Amino acid sequence: MKTIGLIGGMSWESSAEYYRLINQGVKARLGAHNNAKSLMVTVNFQEIEEMQRAGHWHAAGNLLASAARQLASGGADFIVLCTNTMHKLAAAIDSAVTIPLLHIADATGTAIQRAGIKRVGLLGTRFTMEQDFYKGRLREKFGLDVITPDEADRLRVHTIIYDELCHGRINESDRREYQRIIASFQADGAEGVVLGCTEIMLLIKSSDVSLPIFDTTQLHCDAAIDAALK
Ligand code: GLU
Repeated sequence: MKTIGLIGGMSWESSAEYYRLINQGVKARLGAHNNAKSLMVTVNFQEIEEMQRAGHWHAAGNLLASAARQLASGGADFIVLCTNTMHKLAAAIDSAVTIPLLHIADATGTAIQRAGIKRVGLLGTRFTMEQDFYKGRLREKFGLDVITPDEADRLRVHTIIYDELCHGRINESDRREYQRIIASFQADGAEGVVLGCTEIMLLIKSSDVSLPIFDTTQLHCDAAIDAALK
């Protein structure tokens, strides 16, 4: 079994889910007392969030590169960056270490393709919904048509992530807002919805919506387990 190197803390609320899901997944596949072999380097989300807000992406890239080097020197065989947003800086990680980065958009795109779906709605932080590092990869590598909410709803989705979900607060009113936005994706022809932020799975389950969901946290963990057991 290979050793999974996790970069966590963005936020730790979702990193805890990664830890639970990869261990449960390995146990489900191998049985007995098996769990995943892993290392996690946890960054301080306060520092990351300040850098994001100030647009200090170069400094954030350096911070993630140094976390990746810690994992590589600790014996990790590959890297799992436990956030969608910070994949904006995937290149900084790739160039810092020789072990591979298991890209979250690839795990997601593969699952959407496998489901035979072409048009998806994307929920995530404003960075993920508005910039091209994520949507562009889904479009170019997987041929997907990706739609996002209008500006007011993008701000709503983003604010709920940072002000509530990253603090572990799950509110019924926030769930209703997300359900309304997902219903509008469906009205706009989407055949599925990407929970493109690793905390959204704390709020939205498949039973909450009528569209198929692509939970990036679960899909990323599944891909990590596949890679570890290959
Ligand atoms: N976990 C989130 C994501 O998947 C947001 C927090 C962050 O900015 O990294 O995008």
